[in-house]
Amino acid sequence: MKTLSLWLLSLCLISVSALSQERQQLFQYSTINSLLEGNYDGHFPLQKLARKGNFGLGTFDRLNGELIAVDGLFYQIDADGKAHLATPDMKTPFAMVNHFTSELSQPLKESLELEALSQYLDTLITRKNHIQAIRIDGTFRKITVRSIPAQNKPYRKLAEVNAKDQTYFHYKNLQGTLVGYRFPDYMGNLNIPGYHFHFIDANRKFGGHVLSVLTGKGKVEIDNLPQFKMLLPDDETFAKQALNFNNQEMLKKAETSQKKP
Ligand SMILES: [Zn+2]
Repeated sequence: MKTLSLWLLSLCLISVSALSQERQQLFQYSTINSLLEGNYDGHFPLQKLARKGNFGLGTFDRLNGELIAVDGLFYQIDADGKAHLATPDMKTPFAMVNHFTSELSQPLKESLELEALSQYLDTLITRKNHIQAIRIDGTFRKITVRSIPAQNKPYRKLAEVNAKDQTYFHYKNLQGTLVGYRFPDYMGNLNIPGYHFHFIDANRKFGGHVLSVLTGKGKVEIDNLPQFKMLLPDDETFAKQALNFNNQEMLKKAETSQKKP
C-alpha cells in the first residue's frame, strides 16, 4: 500500500513538473518556410493546438483567415476582417501557441510606430536568444491589419498571395489586444525572425495580422520561453518541399508589405 501511494505521489509530481515545463514552452506546428512555399493544407486540429497553449497566432486550412488565440479563446479573422470563434475541428497548416504567464509587465509607451515599438520591446527583453511571447492591451491611435481569403489549388506562393489577395483594414483610436512573438534571427528558417503580431479589438469582433500601428495608452506583458517544441506535418507536400532557403525577401513581401490604399 505504501509503495502504491509513493508511486502515485511520484506520478503526480512528474505530471506537475511536466505541466510547469510546458508553461515555459513555445509549441509550433510546421515551419514558416513550408508556408512561404505554399503548403496551405491544414492537418493539425485546433482541438490539439488548444492543449498546447491559450495564447498564440497562425493561419487556417487553405490560408482561410488569420488565427489569434487570447485568454484560451481561438478566433478566426476572416477576409472581411471580422472575428469569429473558431471550432475545435478546424485545422491549421501553421500556428504557434504557449500558456501565457506574464513575467514582466510595463506601461506601453505612447506614439510608437511598429519599428519604434520593436525597439522599445528590445529594451525590455534580456533573453534575446529565447523566444518571447508578447501581449499588449491598450488603445491604438492607429492600426492597420490584413487578412487573407481561402486559397484554391494549385496554391501560389505566400508572397504572391499576400501581394494580390490580402484585404486591409485601417482603424483609429481602437482598444484591443496585440498577440505576438519575438523569434531570434538564428531561428529564421523555422519562424518569422523578430516581431510578429496579430490584433483583435477589445470586443473581440475584428482584427488581423498587424502591418502598422501607432500606440496609445496600454500595458505590455512579456513571457520568456526557453523551450521550443515543433511538430512537423506528415503529408506528401511537406515530405517533398525544399525548406532550406534564405527567406528574407519573401518574408518582407509576405508579412510586412501593403498595397498603397
Ligand atoms: Zn501573421
